[in-house]
Amino acid sequence: MATEILLASRNAHKIAELSAILEPQLPGVTVSGDEGPEPVENGLSFTENALIKARECAKRTGKPAIADDSGLSVAALNGCPGIFSARWAGPARSDRDNLELVLWQISDLADSQRQAEFVCAAAAVIPQPDGSLREIAVLGRWEGSLLREPAGEHGFGYDPIFQPAGYEVSAAQLDPELKNQLSHRRRAFQALLPQLVAELG
Ligand code: IMP
Repeated sequence: MATEILLASRNAHKIAELSAILEPQLPGVTVSGDEGPEPVENGLSFTENALIKARECAKRTGKPAIADDSGLSVAALNGCPGIFSARWAGPARSDRDNLELVLWQISDLADSQRQAEFVCAAAAVIPQPDGSLREIAVLGRWEGSLLREPAGEHGFGYDPIFQPAGYEVSAAQLDPELKNQLSHRRRAFQALLPQLVAELG
């Protein structure tokens, strides 16, 4: 019987990316975007926020739900912007303002002090026959360092200032398909897959 997993996001790119990762490994499962209201993300970690989104969706619909929460973690900023990545420079939520503020904050640091990573929590919440909810969450990390100037036109968010370890270009200069293969989101959902297969497969 076909099973539908709902992704608690309206982002069409995310729905396509996660369908491509999950559906080949989960025969009979389709991943669709959920159209419901977005809950307040008031968790204190990527994992808590991903679980808040997936739990709200699973409770409302009675269907298995997945969600992610991600951001940039800069070593010299004690892990910030972290869960506040989307609004680091204020309520305008401008990608450009956010990355300019991070660049300014670490402008005095040497190259060796500019380590950063993208982090993604992937969560699944699966309603059980007895009415309880089975909750799973894993983290994916993509390590690198921060450049001094933005470079590249692809991607979004902090991609123009993030240089992945092992590459001499920014994430915004990578071919988008390659970025999707390497990213924290890919790593998180790959790690979630075996547990989803065990629950739904
Ligand atoms: P969300 O979890 O997809 O809502 O992402 C939160 C914020 O983290 C985004 O607004 C970006 O600022 C940042 N972010 C997350 N993933 C990426 C990425 O792959 N590239 C660049 N920025 C990212």
